[in-house]
Amino acid sequence: METDSYKLQCARCGKLHADAEDRFLLHCDEDHGPALLRSEYGQEPLTLQPDHPGLFRYSQWLPIRSVFDTPVRTAVFRSENLAERIGLENLWLAFNGYWPERGGVMETCSFKELEAFPVCARRPEGCDDTLVVSSAGNTGRAFLQTCSRHAVPALIVVPEAALPAMWLTVEKHPEVKLAVLQGDGDYLDAIELAAKIAELDGYFPEGGAKNVARRDGMGTVVLAAVEAIGKVPDHYFQAVGSGTGGIAAWEMSRRLNREGRYGSHRMKLHLVQNEPFALMSDAWAVESRDLPPMTEKEAKDRIHRLHSGVLSNRKPPYGISGGVYDALTDTAGQMYSVTSEEALLAGWLFESLEGCDLDPAAEVALAGLVRAVRQGTIDSSDVVLLNLTGGGRKRLELEETIQAVQPDYLFASKNISHSQLEKQLLHAPIKTPA
Ligand SMILES: [Zn+2]
Repeated sequence: METDSYKLQCARCGKLHADAEDRFLLHCDEDHGPALLRSEYGQEPLTLQPDHPGLFRYSQWLPIRSVFDTPVRTAVFRSENLAERIGLENLWLAFNGYWPERGGVMETCSFKELEAFPVCARRPEGCDDTLVVSSAGNTGRAFLQTCSRHAVPALIVVPEAALPAMWLTVEKHPEVKLAVLQGDGDYLDAIELAAKIAELDGYFPEGGAKNVARRDGMGTVVLAAVEAIGKVPDHYFQAVGSGTGGIAAWEMSRRLNREGRYGSHRMKLHLVQNEPFALMSDAWAVESRDLPPMTEKEAKDRIHRLHSGVLSNRKPPYGISGGVYDALTDTAGQMYSVTSEEALLAGWLFESLEGCDLDPAAEVALAGLVRAVRQGTIDSSDVVLLNLTGGGRKRLELEETIQAVQPDYLFASKNISHSQLEKQLLHAPIKTPA
């Protein structure tokens, strides 16, 4: 694959960069405030790659240097039962999870596989350093599975609370490792620990929201949607913890607008958070680019009470140039904060009407849609895309053996020196039974 098939443009100053030769370029080098880079793919009309059944059919708009053979991509279909119940005529479901009859083949039951594949495919040729990825749960599982299946060296760093979400349907590859931050550390603490590890020789950072491969991978949800619907949807609903999926959907919809074939109207973002931890929703309600202040203790107390524990980033890319605030502003978007009771009810409604279980974040997204319809925010004839970011675990359990992943490394604290880190990673892995 040509390495110059994409450039990276700063969302703040517009400067164009070539990707780094040996790593991932994650930042603009100009002296200005925080900003995301975006991929630029030139003016060519989008051409799908029919040889690829999975997300690499959208390779032209992925910042990658190789491709993987995988059937994984978003299944998009029109809802009948649920749509009728909530009063919508054009509700399209973007299902990311396990539901074979509908085309759902993600065995981790999470849309994070859409991130894991392009990130692995963006690695420079000949790079055998270990990718360091932090996660609140489903990202970690997706990388554990994808990297194991395709032998990509990786270290996944999660807080202890996310350990139950670390399971696989394949054997964990020996070069794929799981590190657990013990105690009351949360996602942000895991991010900070991972950043420190990534500075060591032999490791490099995946980059989270700053990695364009992650965002454009998630943006393939919108590409799968226009392929099924034939046009850019009027509305896009998703549950957000970091908001990266929302940014990704916005970037891809703008790319489609410029390409022109699927319409030039803005796809309005509707991003849903889970009470009582809804920092971005609270900030957007008062039209602020800054997140409301909250002590670490208060935030962690609230995160413990979430229905969906993955919606828990204390420092989401909200105010950064090219981030959630800009995406909402550009699309005249809206944010919602729904209760866990609303989410549970939405999950029950979906399973009884459509026939598949959802994961808690997808339940939160549907609860947001129900709220929006009730409030009259959208018209019944509008074309609505609901991104169901996870589901199908119950079905998967009937068909596959699910293996819990044991940690390779345990860290008592994120406050650890580089030399201590190195020592532990090199010399003190936990001995697991052969
Ligand atoms: Zn810049």
